[in-house]
Amino acid sequence: MIIDYHAHTFPEALAPRALDALSGRSHLLPFVDGTDRMLAESMKKNGIDRSVVLSVATSPAQVTGINDSAARRMEERERLGLIAYGAMHPDYADYHSELKRIKELGFPGIKLHPVYQGADLDDIRLLRIYDRCAELGLAVVLHGGFDIGFPGVKRCSPQMALHALRELKAVRADRAGREDSDAFPEADPAHPGFRFVLAHMGGWLEWEDVLRLAPEMLEAGPVYLDTAFSLGRFRPLTDGYWKESDTAMLSDRLFVRIVRAYGPGRILFGTDSPWSDQGETIRHLRSLSLTPEELRTILEAK
Ligand SMILES: [Zn+2]
Repeated sequence: MIIDYHAHTFPEALAPRALDALSGRSHLLPFVDGTDRMLAESMKKNGIDRSVVLSVATSPAQVTGINDSAARRMEERERLGLIAYGAMHPDYADYHSELKRIKELGFPGIKLHPVYQGADLDDIRLLRIYDRCAELGLAVVLHGGFDIGFPGVKRCSPQMALHALRELKAVRADRAGREDSDAFPEADPAHPGFRFVLAHMGGWLEWEDVLRLAPEMLEAGPVYLDTAFSLGRFRPLTDGYWKESDTAMLSDRLFVRIVRAYGPGRILFGTDSPWSDQGETIRHLRSLSLTPEELRTILEAK
């Protein structure tokens, strides 16, 4: 089974406006219209069984609204093969109970975007959220590296991710009064539970650091990288904002090195649809110098 672990959709009525706003900031041309329906069509066309749809709360006031709306749409989305993650914000006061509610509503995890949310990835406000997610068995998907819409804003570096994981591990090991190895209990394969997913191959435009820190990252906790919006070139608007030379992302060679440094079992197939094309992302993965086994492991749901 193939799962796209990183996609975005919006309620039909909001999708055009949301895509316009995001496209205006990033100067990217979307590949689909940002609705559940069109994502489902793209999945069917490209042999993708499920897609995880991620939402970001850009203010604490949005958190419950996003989660309520996603909970209402859950059944209909299930029919389309879509799996929604919940939303959280570093300044959301009742994070402890809202995360419990997210778990009870059946969301497998949450998405956080430190750049849009005005906090560093290793900020104490986020550490308490990771800790609660680890306790509840919720996955945490984090934007990794720079964001195309906020040039130069360093809030999600691989170094910060490593620091956050180490702090989290120490806190949890201390509390449990156990050895480090018990800080993150073995996940149940049916419910992957707590995972620390760094999107965009660990750190958009910070890939040398992602590669260099691999041994320490793997030592520190259940870190995963998703492949979203990392391979090849991005597709800009034709407004002249991006030059052709700006559009290159992670090189194929470095991508393969990162896969081997973390192990293909830690790499989740993701596209960032609507900002990449699902079919093109799969074709690009197939064109790399990965072994068939490595490719299969990346594409296969885990
Ligand atoms: Zn994304």
